[in-house]
Amino acid sequence: MDHKARFAADSLEKQYPEPDRLPKDACLVVVRNGGVYLRKESTPTIGERRSSDLLKEPGKNAQYLGHRRAVPWYAIDLSDDLPLPEGLVYAGVRELAGLVPDEELAIAGLAVQITEYHRTTRFCGRCGTATVPAGTERAKVCPSCHRVIYPRLSPAVIVLVRNNNAVLMVRGKRAAPGRYSLIAGFVEPGETIEHAVHREVLEEAGITIKNIRYCASEPWPFPDSVMLGFVADYDGGELAPDGVEIESAVWFDRDHLPPLPPNLSLTRALIDDWVAGA
Ligand SMILES: [Zn+2]
Repeated sequence: MDHKARFAADSLEKQYPEPDRLPKDACLVVVRNGGVYLRKESTPTIGERRSSDLLKEPGKNAQYLGHRRAVPWYAIDLSDDLPLPEGLVYAGVRELAGLVPDEELAIAGLAVQITEYHRTTRFCGRCGTATVPAGTERAKVCPSCHRVIYPRLSPAVIVLVRNNNAVLMVRGKRAAPGRYSLIAGFVEPGETIEHAVHREVLEEAGITIKNIRYCASEPWPFPDSVMLGFVADYDGGELAPDGVEIESAVWFDRDHLPPLPPNLSLTRALIDDWVAGA
């Protein structure tokens, strides 16, 4: 399948142990409230050299992301009390698509996710002691009860359901006008991934499916998912949207699709692949 996006794991190599201090040559991704700052020069970038006067003292908020072409990249959380850096403009991660190289778009998503991880794991959830970085992997350790805390990663499924020349798309209650998407949802405890695919289709559209086949995945850092993409065939039942989450479920003919999401998304890759397979 032709997934056009690039991913952070393509561009960043993690090297452990982490340096004790923020290296002088580090490149910083400045994060605030789920978005990042962007320097709009001839080549817009989210990577801010530490040597700029942006951050005299980034403090303990710097979170190691990985090395890119031998340069260590860090995310720093500006949500607290540091002044706004001069010359930078703020953008939500999804607004960066097309503005910065695709590699940086992926790194921005990772930076936001890791910043949120840092912010929500400062203390051990079991005993309340302040945590410390493991240093040897992306994890934190509680010095008191030795609990290891990894970034939370919530698996979610998305499925393209085919029925002859048509594809199933649904409209969420809060979706923008005219906007349809593929069926998606989180995997629940006790389920296999396949259970989750069957259940989500039954819950959201009221039908059963067969021939589930895994296609591709993507990190979905809003805030901490990994999205697993499937195709499946219609098996039985009448479309019956749940009316709670989903207000409408429609079979769209291959030649009459609704407006589709951007190029770089897994949804788009699944749909493009299905259309190309005509
Ligand atoms: Zn503890």
